Amino acid sequence: MFKKILIANRGEIALRILRACRELNIKTVTIHSEADESAMHVKMADESICVGPPPAQSSYLNIPAIITTATLTNVDAIHPGYGFLSENQRFAEIIEEHQIKFIGPQSQHIKMMGNKIEAKKIMSENNIPTVPGLNDLSDKNKIDSFIEKVGLPLIVKAASGGGGKGMRVISEKKEIIKSIESAKIESKKSFNDDTVYLEKYLINPKHIEIQILADSYKNVISLGERDCSIQRKHQKLIEESPSTILLEKNRNAISNLCTNAVRSIGYEGVGTLEFLFQDNKFYFMEMNTRLQVEHPVTEMVTDIDLVKQQILSASGEKLTIKQEDVKIKGHAIECRINAEDPISFIPSPGKITQYHQPGGLGVRVDSAVYQGYIVPSHYDSMIGKLITYADTRTECLAKMRRALEEYVIMGINTNLQLHQKILKSDEFIEGKYDINYMTKFD
Ligand code: ADP
Repeated sequence: MFKKILIANRGEIALRILRACRELNIKTVTIHSEADESAMHVKMADESICVGPPPAQSSYLNIPAIITTATLTNVDAIHPGYGFLSENQRFAEIIEEHQIKFIGPQSQHIKMMGNKIEAKKIMSENNIPTVPGLNDLSDKNKIDSFIEKVGLPLIVKAASGGGGKGMRVISEKKEIIKSIESAKIESKKSFNDDTVYLEKYLINPKHIEIQILADSYKNVISLGERDCSIQRKHQKLIEESPSTILLEKNRNAISNLCTNAVRSIGYEGVGTLEFLFQDNKFYFMEMNTRLQVEHPVTEMVTDIDLVKQQILSASGEKLTIKQEDVKIKGHAIECRINAEDPISFIPSPGKITQYHQPGGLGVRVDSAVYQGYIVPSHYDSMIGKLITYADTRTECLAKMRRALEEYVIMGINTNLQLHQKILKSDEFIEGKYDINYMTKFD
């Protein structure tokens, strides 16, 4: 087992990993930027090293500084969290070159799934249904026959995309060339790769994803699904597990396909296969090769600590949980708490002058902020996650409404009230919402 782990991240996820390490009796090293001197992940770690100035490019993405820190502090492994370098194939490779274990899949799997065109191809070969798409956009005739086959609307997406960037919905044929060109420009700028592809745009699907867990001996299990359809501009806002519309036989069928596919490529660690779900059919979109922001809802309904399992698997331990041991029990919901203006959604950094977080049975807060903390302007605006768990969905919603009312964050703007509105809306209460739900708040 590892003796010391470097956590190459910040905020709530750095703390989440730190907690798992402490329970496993593993020492922790965190990195931080000059803007994060007083952050919780710095205060709570056994050691913390400043790796650069505030911009992420100079600190949390500064590979040479992170590797130097890892070498100097003599760690056995690096946990990348999510975002930042978590899906950077080169980072994973460099770490391994330094005889340090990357807590995640092998770099070849990051590369394989990092290209969404390639990922769809592999999944399709493994009998997983994918969203109908066209990859070769150089020939106008091919585009025309694709439209004839699947109809409009379409969506143009970046092969290396993430975070909802490089996507354009196309409703009319005459927009196609322009949309492809602008998606290419955005994709080149954001991902240094201008490969884009077309997909049929599904009108009212849910976003449902399957969580898998694998060791390095080809033991793979599925931990059920998360419904992440409450999104704004393709960014998730609320997630829940289980989904309100998935029948057990559908869950088992898609889980089997996912575990088989993951086993066939020799994938290890945690991973998520993202699908659109419409008219009782699944359509694979992409696979995320890292821990997800929304992993807590899965932890609550399965009672499995995903971060600990991820660390155990990376250290070479065999998975001791069998598929038949996985029981989805109760219901969990997560609200992402963002520091942002509730109307314009513009980030709202600044000092938290008053802070009180909710508690009680079935309430979990994964956050790294505190009273007096200054939310820096340099990073993502998500400052925490509020998760509730109960036996039934109705009780879970009641708990979430109660917890949101109790949550006090003063000094900055947050989306707490927006969550309250959503939690009171009939569509959400009935569980019938799809990915378009948030457009009514635009
Ligand atoms: P990213 O990696 O940038 O997050 P995804 O491929 O995961 O991109 O898609 C993000 C979201 O965009 C999905 O959850 C869904 O809401 C929407 N989306 C993507 N592809 C389609 C599609 N073919 N039809 C309808 N919505 C889509």
